[in-house]
Amino acid sequence: MLVEEGFEPIICWTNPNIQPADEHGRRLEELRRWTAMMDIPLIEAHEDYAAWEHSVAPIGAHERERRCRACYGLRLAEAVRVAEAEGFGHIATTLAVSPYQLFETCNDVLTRLAAAHGLTPVIRDFRPWYPEATRRSRELGMYRQNYCGCRFSAAEAALDRIRLRDERRAAKQAKR
Ligand code: SF4
Repeated sequence: MLVEEGFEPIICWTNPNIQPADEHGRRLEELRRWTAMMDIPLIEAHEDYAAWEHSVAPIGAHERERRCRACYGLRLAEAVRVAEAEGFGHIATTLAVSPYQLFETCNDVLTRLAAAHGLTPVIRDFRPWYPEATRRSRELGMYRQNYCGCRFSAAEAALDRIRLRDERRAAKQAKR
């Protein structure tokens, strides 16, 4: 979509939110493999794990919007820093591609950070392509994460799976 619009995307990886370390490594390896295959430049930016623990983790499990806003802010601030240092004019994010993300919050954070650094935010809604992206990644045998990244999201996703399983069981029993 961005390529069709005339952009030449460069991907910036900065995800100090992903836990545990094995999961972080698996996702980064997959991105390295995919960008190499697609011939897309990849910048591996700084990841401030201590800042994430200091400024995001204390918000905890009960205030998801505030926690994710802080998390997007930390990661996008680094991406904006890199974009400015590299002399880029525009910045977009893939963080809100998944329908499970907080689309409005993420784009609000990106818009504010971009404006503060003289960059043009490229805000697009990629969510309608999410099923297609899922299908293609399965075809390519890519690793697929089943939670956003932090330990809170791992617990939230596990609870969601249990809730969905229970709802399916209840629906089956109701049909009997
Ligand atoms: S759910 Fe995702 S965006 Fe929100 S704090 Fe956790 S890792 Fe960050």
